[in-house]
Amino acid sequence: EAAGGTLLHANKVLMQFGGLKALNQVDLVVERGTVHGLIGPNGSGKSTMMNVLTGIYKPTAGKVEFAGAVISGRSPAQIALGGIARTFQNVQLFGEMTATENVLVGLHHTFRSTVGDAMLQTPRVVREERAARERAAAILDFVGLSSLANEEARNLPYGKQRLLEIGRALALDPRLLLLDEPAAGLTAPDIRELMAIIRKIRDHGITIILIEHHMDVVMTISDTVTVLDFGQKIAEGAPAQVQADRKVIEAYLGG
Ligand code: ADP
Ligand code: MG
Repeated sequence: EAAGGTLLHANKVLMQFGGLKALNQVDLVVERGTVHGLIGPNGSGKSTMMNVLTGIYKPTAGKVEFAGAVISGRSPAQIALGGIARTFQNVQLFGEMTATENVLVGLHHTFRSTVGDAMLQTPRVVREERAARERAAAILDFVGLSSLANEEARNLPYGKQRLLEIGRALALDPRLLLLDEPAAGLTAPDIRELMAIIRKIRDHGITIILIEHHMDVVMTISDTVTVLDFGQKIAEGAPAQVQADRKVIEAYLGG
């Protein structure tokens, strides 16, 4: 979609686990069509924020607005269908299914056929299956996995598994894509490929929130960066500005 305007607004989000404030009154505003980096030392609340945004955790207080509607309180499935897709910090694929099948799982929401239709192989089922396979092929091509379409996910090199996860998330046709440490464990060439794909996704108008430990990656491809430390937002702005921020430097040196 076109750049400009707020797509997501997390408003004074508090996420408490017992006595621990994993997120302490965090405000996060993500503009349409941007890559928004979310960084911070280990345990600062980044993954917790993703889990709040995707409905896995219900915030203790505060609210999340997406495309003008309050989504905090909705189920993860509702939020996913509403346009927010994600990948996980640890790869979560169906290992014994092929790359194509993993993407088809993500495409299930587009099916209108009933179980009865499927058993009878009605024309609608045949049509939908063909359309889904074409779309899966297009998605695999987009993430550079065409030649590996029929490989079982568990047999793919790790870097390719991460790209497949992104492909599966794209199958949801999201407006917002959340990536939780997509470069973790990748080789330098894999990281370059990943960065090119993230840019391509953004150029298709999909807004991205990027959690990443590799500073060079976040600082190179983010339009805006938000920094968390101990559950609180300590800095926000353009990459160059955030990198030079004393609080940010101290948080990383201390952590
Ligand atoms: P990050 O992703 O920035 O490394 P997390 O969001 O995973 O950090 O964790 C932030 C803090 O919240 C950590 O102290 C973590 O132990 C705690 N935490 C996260 N999830 C839970 C949970 N489900 N129950 C209890 N504590 C949690
Ligand atoms: Mg994390």
